[in-house]
Amino acid sequence: MATVTLRINGQPVTVPAGTTLLAAAAQVGVKIPTLCYLKDIGHDVGACRICVVEVAGKEDFVTACNTPAEEGMEVYTNTPAVRASRRMTLEMILSDHHMDCPTCPRNGNCELQALAAQLNVRTVRLSGATRADFPRDDSTPAIIRDPRKCILCQRCITVCKNIQTVAALELQGQGFDALVGPPGNRKLADTLCVQCGQCALVCPTAAITERDDTPLVWAALADPGKHVVVQTAPATHVTIGEAFGLPPGTDITGKMVAALRRLGFDAVFDTNFTADLTIMEEGSELLKRINEGGVLPQLTSCSPGWINFMEHFYPDLLPHVSTCKSPQQMFGALAKTYYAQQKGLKPEDVFVVSVMPCTAKKFEAQRPEMNAASRYWGNPAIGRDVDVVLTSRELIRMLREAGIDFTALPDEDYDELMGVGTGAAQIFGATGGVMEAALRTAYEIATGKTLARIDFEAVRGMEGIKEATVPMNGTKVKVLVAHGLANARALMDKLRAGELKDYHFIEVMACPGGCIGGGGQPIPTDTGRRRSRIDGCYTRDKALKYRKSHENPEIKKLYQDFLGEPLGHRSHQLLHTSYRPRQSLVARD
Ligand code: SF4
Ligand code: SF4
Ligand code: SF4
Repeated sequence: MATVTLRINGQPVTVPAGTTLLAAAAQVGVKIPTLCYLKDIGHDVGACRICVVEVAGKEDFVTACNTPAEEGMEVYTNTPAVRASRRMTLEMILSDHHMDCPTCPRNGNCELQALAAQLNVRTVRLSGATRADFPRDDSTPAIIRDPRKCILCQRCITVCKNIQTVAALELQGQGFDALVGPPGNRKLADTLCVQCGQCALVCPTAAITERDDTPLVWAALADPGKHVVVQTAPATHVTIGEAFGLPPGTDITGKMVAALRRLGFDAVFDTNFTADLTIMEEGSELLKRINEGGVLPQLTSCSPGWINFMEHFYPDLLPHVSTCKSPQQMFGALAKTYYAQQKGLKPEDVFVVSVMPCTAKKFEAQRPEMNAASRYWGNPAIGRDVDVVLTSRELIRMLREAGIDFTALPDEDYDELMGVGTGAAQIFGATGGVMEAALRTAYEIATGKTLARIDFEAVRGMEGIKEATVPMNGTKVKVLVAHGLANARALMDKLRAGELKDYHFIEVMACPGGCIGGGGQPIPTDTGRRRSRIDGCYTRDKALKYRKSHENPEIKKLYQDFLGEPLGHRSHQLLHTSYRPRQSLVARD
């Protein structure tokens, strides 16, 4: 490998050719400040100019994040002129920034705030035009845009265009009129945005955030007429602890249950329970399609950002999508039917809260076709199956507000009836997990044999597209897994072109890494954290008493006491749905 040797602040360093000055400096212990740069998504446009450095022989400063090291370079990162330039740049950014830090959702976890502290900027000497007139966009149930807090770093554009291939955002205008937002100044709800929240995850400020639904939950908890239940998604079990200083991937399940009880929930349940139920229904659907000549490959339907993507971009392929609702929505439908019935509660008094890693779940919960309990009982007053969706970040804020000392809590168990989840359900949090869980169950149901080894390593890991073949009753079942919508798009283009005819099942998760990298997860979420969170899912899988969905005793009881059988009449009523093309948006874009 070709290398170059240069000097940084007088210290020699040898690095592979093509290494940026930022990375070269890190090798000699020099941390150059950055703001717009984000390695994880390949975003190095040098837009903010915070990382400028001096290079001997060059008249102008260069940006360290995207300037390659050259043989014999003399680089200075800490001269008075460099420091003055950075401070002036930051003051310019702050001068037209809508600074209301004490009441801002990113207060305490804002890269702009942190940089001002790091560069010791305590006054802003500039004044003039501001971004105060840019309107807030709260058109979607999931994502809020506040251009007054945008620093034009364009990270959101990069992630939306390159990682998700949606391109719902672009840079428009110039100077003080420059704006990052949907083309043609539209509202986000009128674009192809799939509400995945990956933009919120990378935004350094509060210019893009999740909608804050915590007041709705506080109100429900304070209402004596409401029986408030909560469900926690698989990925939250290994991520919430980060906010309380625990390493990414730490299993905090028991403490999360205890914390939710301290908040005042009447029952604390696990979405892992309905993840197991999803496997029963989706696995049965797959076997039916294989045995009866249905549309194959079957596509998973758990990720609402992915469903939005299909409806927007591939409506012709919707017959491939499993009719199973996501675990969140299965839970909501059962909480207001099965649970209410078993506990003698009025379904209209049951208030269902979800804790999800995902912003698109907020959109999913308000889809009118999800009001299954209301239709089941013939009572519109029951409303939505899931009343409020909180992201991991919102729950963390509630726990802080309530003064809960999270790490000091004892471990507690979920409530009975909808509180048992298997290891198969836990790995729903990681890319490939739904597929692996489905294979564990489908194999045993189809063959009647016990799997000698239940770990399907081929579908694990961070590779963008993974594939496996599993012999099942004389059929070689071929499966694919994709995470991140760019990878999903590559597969859907092949499917549309007729190239995936011999595949049976495809899992797609909209977010890179799967739900552990969801748009509502703690910030920062980077590749290293994604890997640790995935490891946390598999560690918990191994530790659980049951590791296959069809062994879950509460699922067996549910079928026995209420549902009957997978794909039966009541399952269809409550747990299955259909999706619709939304090509009108495509045409408009
Ligand atoms: S985005 Fe950051 S700097 Fe701006 S108001 Fe919020 S916390 Fe303060
Ligand atoms: S939510 Fe997802 S699709 Fe929508 S703008 Fe953000 S990154 Fe793009
Ligand atoms: S919205 Fe956030 S990520 Fe996008 S350009 Fe503005 S500050 Fe950067």
